[in-house]
Amino acid sequence: MKKHNFNAGPSILPQSTIENTAKAILDFDGIGLSIMEISHRSKEFQAVMDEATALFKELLAISEGYSVLFLGGGASMQFAMVPFNLFEKKAAYLNTGTWASKALKEAKLFGEVIEVASSKEANFNYIPKQYTIPSDADYFHITTNNTIFGTELHEDIDSPVPLVADMSSDIFSRPIDVSKYALIYGGAQKNLAPAGLAFVIVKDSVLGKVSRAIPTMLDYRTHIKEGSMFNTPPVVPVYAALQTLKWMKELGGISVLEKINKEKAALLYDEIDRNKLFKGTAAIEDRSLMNICFVMNDEYKSLEEEFGKFAAAKGLIGIKGHRSVGGFRASTYNALPKASVIALIDAMKEFEKAH
Ligand code: PMP
Repeated sequence: MKKHNFNAGPSILPQSTIENTAKAILDFDGIGLSIMEISHRSKEFQAVMDEATALFKELLAISEGYSVLFLGGGASMQFAMVPFNLFEKKAAYLNTGTWASKALKEAKLFGEVIEVASSKEANFNYIPKQYTIPSDADYFHITTNNTIFGTELHEDIDSPVPLVADMSSDIFSRPIDVSKYALIYGGAQKNLAPAGLAFVIVKDSVLGKVSRAIPTMLDYRTHIKEGSMFNTPPVVPVYAALQTLKWMKELGGISVLEKINKEKAALLYDEIDRNKLFKGTAAIEDRSLMNICFVMNDEYKSLEEEFGKFAAAKGLIGIKGHRSVGGFRASTYNALPKASVIALIDAMKEFEKAH
């Protein structure tokens, strides 16, 4: 039976990414060797890195003055790398969830951190809007999509100080105005590649301003200078990322994906709002297009486990909500077909009829 993959991350990737990467693992570009067993300094792999970097810039319309990096260590490493490179006296953070809190915690190791606002009191079910960004902060950090709580900032905000964003779970889901950001980072394992890779988009001019010594591996300038090849990069995830970037380009680019993502999310949210058994957990204006969180309505709470099993029997995989929200979370990343969303909606309708 066909599985509908709603996993939150690692999560569904385009079929072409998986197939092309599988081929390169067996025989890379017809050279008679696996991509896993050749030098990252070979001309064949260098071409992969160059093309992935160029296509990444092209798809997000990243202008001159910004560098794109592919690094190990996941998004969590960036929680520390950002302050290492940008924190001098004070930083400001918007606390919108578990990952934002973790980023903030790392920054506190470097000095004064202002939490400009938090939605913790409401279990992070909305994105705070009323706050002041201190004009003397070295940077302001946001998490544009809160994977666990299903809230998302749908616009690129204005910030009086350099803006830093964790876009782990919504990168490439909509066009972004990169010029509004000093730095954007994320783990690749949602909309881009298998786990093991982080991407960083950094405005070159924000670097080199802190007085501390930065360990070589944690200094963005090292990786800019060496084209993400200061040390051995995660070659297979980079290869897979290139395949996903090509897939996005062939589809027509990010604005086409945004349109499809809006359609998929609207279909599912409409059903959550209509169906007597379920209700959404996130504030309506902040509802994520990538992670759609919902729970059983109070009077049907006892049916939660049964619906989970019912959905699993229909091949709907990965819809269990994170333990800090409960209920269900359907992740509708770029590669998830509309047909999978419709399959989930059909299951919700069928389950409603039976109860
Ligand atoms: N930020 C966000 C928004 C995430 O969703 C995640 C992982 N789900 C992380 C950071 C941490 O990513 P990693 O596991 O790559 O460190």
